[in-house]
Amino acid sequence: MMTTEVFLQQLISNPDRLNCLVEEAKELAFQHGLLMRTLETPNSSEVVTYAPFTLFPTPVPRAALLQALDVQTHLNTLVDKISQDPDFLEEALAGAIQADDFTAKLFGIYRQVQQEGWRQSIVVGLNRCDYMVDQREDGTPSLKQIEINTIAAGAFGMGDCLPVVHRHILRSAGLLEESECIQDTNTTPGMMAALAKAWELYGQQKAVILFLVEDVQTSKLDHRYIEKELWNRNIPVIRRKFEEVSRGGSLDANKNLFIDGLEVAVVYYRYGYMPDNYTEQTWDARLLVERSLAVKCPDISTHLAGTKKVQQVLARPGVLEKFFPDQPQVVEQIRATFASLYTLDMGAEGDQTVAMALANPDEFVLKPQREGGGNNYFGEEIVRVLQEVKGDKRRAAYILMDRIRPRTEQNILLRRGLPLKLSTVCSEIGVYGAYVRHEGEMVLNEAAGHILRTKSTKHNDGGIYSGVTVLDSPFVI
Ligand code: ADP
Ligand code: MG
Repeated sequence: MMTTEVFLQQLISNPDRLNCLVEEAKELAFQHGLLMRTLETPNSSEVVTYAPFTLFPTPVPRAALLQALDVQTHLNTLVDKISQDPDFLEEALAGAIQADDFTAKLFGIYRQVQQEGWRQSIVVGLNRCDYMVDQREDGTPSLKQIEINTIAAGAFGMGDCLPVVHRHILRSAGLLEESECIQDTNTTPGMMAALAKAWELYGQQKAVILFLVEDVQTSKLDHRYIEKELWNRNIPVIRRKFEEVSRGGSLDANKNLFIDGLEVAVVYYRYGYMPDNYTEQTWDARLLVERSLAVKCPDISTHLAGTKKVQQVLARPGVLEKFFPDQPQVVEQIRATFASLYTLDMGAEGDQTVAMALANPDEFVLKPQREGGGNNYFGEEIVRVLQEVKGDKRRAAYILMDRIRPRTEQNILLRRGLPLKLSTVCSEIGVYGAYVRHEGEMVLNEAAGHILRTKSTKHNDGGIYSGVTVLDSPFVI
């Protein structure tokens, strides 16, 4: 195997060779479009840099990757079923709504739209299910779900550029045989096929797909890949910020959504998953979109289905069975990927969770209802947070999860400004799922591809744009 410590040690002890290879890797990244705006000028494409990535693909056990790909369509179905189950959502999120303003706001919009009793019959979901390979004490690797992202699941646009870069670098490093093992991914077309299908079902040739985008657009170049895929199918794409939707958006008498004179067939959220993405005014824009006839990716109920609290409730005995009553093998397949998760809702069970976490904080991760990386608590931080909230309903804003001890490997992380060194790293497999439901029928349901994201084990939490995680592709072993 190529990324043995020996090979990497030799490389790192030969600075000329290493620098040469790293230069080439960066140039290949530019050549193949692995690009990112800089932190200094995140809203300009005048000066750009390479998106952070690993010099070599990181080894991933074949069985784990296949298992993650195999379960994806069932997870698509599960997310979609949850989104159609108001009783489940209400019960699962009851404690979190009381404790967490953001979840309460989202749920408020959900409830309002529910009460108005009207629903778009076209639903499109683009998600990414994340996993780590847990290295158990007996040495056997075991795939464990970290989370399901149902809103703004990203990194697939540029992710498709990585295999060609890695293949080339392996060849340059003299590892020809290994280079032949690197498979192309083709995630973007698969994901965009679902948006295209939703647009087609909407049935207005002139209507656009609106990308709802960030205020600070560091990842704009990644979006361009995705947009291109739609333009190639003759589907017009526009990009707007929340504030622009708020100023220029309106509904006609039939609840069709218009912005700046253009009818919107699909709203694709690449933003709106964190509290600071919103102002009072832009919460109104979210409500406006939600009430409209436009297809939303995701709609508010699918967004809620992706919360950490829902993930924890799904791991309770009997809950998956409720969603797949006649499919015990599907239940088994999904459950096999779940780590243990624990409630912090008020009550005896939550009390037990608190005691357990305080007794062994290093064995757990404490998670609030947040997305985007950098929000979770580990070790002594868990003790600090729980000591403060354990006695009252504020604790229901969190869930507790068994801490996974992922397999580690050696690799070299390339990020602008980061010193070159050999790092001990761990990886997260992301599997992309795409589905479309129309009038109660799943008309498309696919695993659209995968990506690897890798970080130094020095960091507990992750995040590409928070400067910890880098893009990677699996070297299947
Ligand atoms: P977010 O929605 O912010 O991405 P995640 O649940 O994906 O939240 O957690 C962020 C990061 O924290 C993950 O990418 C992973 O590196 C780490 N992490 C999350 N859960 C666990 C866990 N159970 N064990 C070990 N690390 C975890
Ligand atoms: Mg995550």
